[in-house]
Amino acid sequence: MDEAFAGRMAEEVGRIVGLLQHQASTEVSFTSADEGDWPPCMREVTTQLAQSVNINHVGRVFLASMSRVIGLSVDEAQAFFVNAPDYSADMTRYQLSHVYEHEYTPAGCPKLQINACCPVTRGDVKSDLCSREWMDHPLKYLRVRQRAKHREEQSSPPKEESQTPQ
Ligand code: SF4
Repeated sequence: MDEAFAGRMAEEVGRIVGLLQHQASTEVSFTSADEGDWPPCMREVTTQLAQSVNINHVGRVFLASMSRVIGLSVDEAQAFFVNAPDYSADMTRYQLSHVYEHEYTPAGCPKLQINACCPVTRGDVKSDLCSREWMDHPLKYLRVRQRAKHREEQSSPPKEESQTPQ
């Protein structure tokens, strides 16, 4: 390998490393999701369960799998279900453990829509994001919200330290 070639290689490797570092810094983990990032379908299922509404099987499995993906513990996921009209601690625990152990992926929008789990399709909730042509999965919603939040955090000026009165 001559020196000129080695130099070009080093330059190219440096460029790729820079790109990867940039990508890593802009990549946001689902596990940093807070409630404000949740898609309307997830917010609706949790709200309805808290109000003792009997959520169908698709909605329950969806909530369990979303809880897993966003990094909630089984205990935290179980807390969503305690007001369900047919709540059984043991059965809920068993079903949640199954979803977590088998790493269920949350259902996409079409499945949620045909099972009455999408408040936007029903016209109960408005969401610009959910109305986009490409929106076909709640995890896309979560990802877009998190990226937007991450960009805002990156572009906002650092907070000034509070001054102690003299
Ligand atoms: S469009 Fe998809 S992400 Fe939005 S509320 Fe409906 S199912 Fe959830």
